[in-house]
Amino acid sequence: MPKLLLATSNLAKVREYRSLLSGVPYELVTLAEEGIGDIAGEEAETLEENAILKATTYAARGQLLALADDSGLEVDALAGEPGARSARYAGQVASDRELIDYLLAKLEGVPWDKRAARFRCFIALARPGGEVELCCGECHGVISFEPRGEGGFGYDPIFYLPELGKTMAELPPGVKNQVSHRARAAQGARLVLEKLRGEIQD
Ligand code: IMP
Repeated sequence: MPKLLLATSNLAKVREYRSLLSGVPYELVTLAEEGIGDIAGEEAETLEENAILKATTYAARGQLLALADDSGLEVDALAGEPGARSARYAGQVASDRELIDYLLAKLEGVPWDKRAARFRCFIALARPGGEVELCCGECHGVISFEPRGEGGFGYDPIFYLPELGKTMAELPPGVKNQVSHRARAAQGARLVLEKLRGEIQD
């Protein structure tokens, strides 16, 4: 089977993708397994540009089909912030807890009905020659007043899903992997991977 390089150093994402893409006709390999260091910084302004930049950089470096994503949280009351800056919103090196506290402080005094938000994810699939396909997924929710739950990562403990009555961090991984922005983008990626499989030699 041809290899698919999961071009992320975030181990939580590697775990999610192994589950989201289970059964695709590729051997999923990580940067560490291929001996590739972390080389692509996120320098672009938008999520889609970042995903494309990472996928094309790693595909060229590894000479493999590469999957990279970029995702972020967009809060209506903050005019779409933090968006592409989601990981760095509270400073260059901030823990998940610091990011959550920073966002909650920004939303201090904002009532429940004005706390709508969405996660968006772009997945780019790049071939070593530079050809890229892009898939997008969204998940809509509300920023809760305080964190709840231990699962997931990032802003999951304050991302409340009204239809499930839980935060993303309270969902079992199997449920997050059905409803998340990444899951929805991965459904598109699965179709692209199946189409490309016919064109790629083992
Ligand atoms: P990344 O660049 O795709 O890793 O995402 C940027 C930041 O968005 C992460 O560091 C998290 O803070 C946030 N984020 C992305 N996806 C998720 C998710 O599934 N749950 C919670 N936070 C997320």
